[in-house]
Amino acid sequence: MENETKIVGRCPLCGGKVVKTCKGYRCENNTGEAPKCGLFINGVIGNRKMADHEIAELLSQRRIMLDGFASKEWKSFPTVLVLNADGSVSMESRVAVCPRCGGEIRVGTKAFNCSNYRQEDAKCEFVIWRNICGHLLTEKEVHEICENGITTEEIELYGDDGHIYRKRLGLSPDKLKVIKV
Ligand SMILES: [Zn+2]
Ligand SMILES: [Zn+2]
Repeated sequence: MENETKIVGRCPLCGGKVVKTCKGYRCENNTGEAPKCGLFINGVIGNRKMADHEIAELLSQRRIMLDGFASKEWKSFPTVLVLNADGSVSMESRVAVCPRCGGEIRVGTKAFNCSNYRQEDAKCEFVIWRNICGHLLTEKEVHEICENGITTEEIELYGDDGHIYRKRLGLSPDKLKVIKV
């Protein structure tokens, strides 16, 4: 049992194993004076404890959208963690380009909003609710709606009485909201 380690995934930079350590997640090739790889992911990011399966997704997809980060004032916020080419991790609120005005669509606590929401002269009210009929939209789905106008796959949705139905989600003709197609 001496050399037992917990491997959470593969390093996307060098292909090495990423092991869990006391302070975070480190590539096996990130050791010594001149490490071959710079990958190290803190175990706590934005006052939020990371789970092993979240790190596994960040390693395989290079990004993951998560809730529950906290500012210095302990205000909770969602963000997308991005694994950079140098092995560092940064936060990005942008998930897509606004199909109405070309602004940035950013992830918020309840909705994906356009960055021009507060623009006085060119106010854009485009919004995609994060929870649509019991389904929490993924970053990929938001991207598809903004980029292609519709999701690739049908999505499992829930009626008031609990019945399950499947629809694709797409842009309304006026590009103001998301509708079931
Ligand atoms: Zn590595
Ligand atoms: Zn917009």
